[in-house]
Amino acid sequence: MLNIILFGPPGAGKGTQSQFLREKYHLTYISTGEILREEIAAESELGLQVKEIIGKGGLVSDEIVARIIEKKLSENVNSPGFLFDGYPRTVPQADILDDLLQKYNMTLSGVLSLEVPEEMLIERMLERGKVSGRADDNIDSIKHRFVEYNEKTQPVMGFYEAKGNLHAVNGVGEIPQIFANLCSVIESI
Ligand code: AMP
Repeated sequence: MLNIILFGPPGAGKGTQSQFLREKYHLTYISTGEILREEIAAESELGLQVKEIIGKGGLVSDEIVARIIEKKLSENVNSPGFLFDGYPRTVPQADILDDLLQKYNMTLSGVLSLEVPEEMLIERMLERGKVSGRADDNIDSIKHRFVEYNEKTQPVMGFYEAKGNLHAVNGVGEIPQIFANLCSVIESI
């Protein structure tokens, strides 16, 4: 089983690269952000609960995303593997993921960390905002997403580094080249 976390700051290209990775390795894709946006679009109870936080670029609670992850894992126990995009985003989420993987007899293959300088990220996200229709691709929300990332998400790297699971990948360049960088790490783990 190949269980991969695609890690990186907002705008690093996780969503784009995930589309290629899930196809090549036949992985069950779990993007907590995408699932939450679907809930908002469906105006579900959960969607209404998280809409404002997401619009402002904040993080939703660890409990909410844990429920999403467990549901996906339990529904896909026979999958060849999972690709986590945008999860875990806090150290408590990383702890919860460890417990959940253990519960379902799965192990983490590796954490691929896409590295892109911050100035480039903001530029990319503002460009994306012109077409994405995402409520959080505006300058105020983007700034807040970086504050959240630096404060709460970056420490997750240390968590996985300590376990020997973290692999840095150059996230600057053409999309196919970055995909090749990711694949070569996957082939080596
Ligand atoms: P993303 O599509 O991964 O950029 O996520 C969009 C937004 O959804 C984030 O800015 C958060 O508000 C929320 N979100 C997604 N994943 C998580 C998570 N693992 N923990 C908390 N909030 C999340």
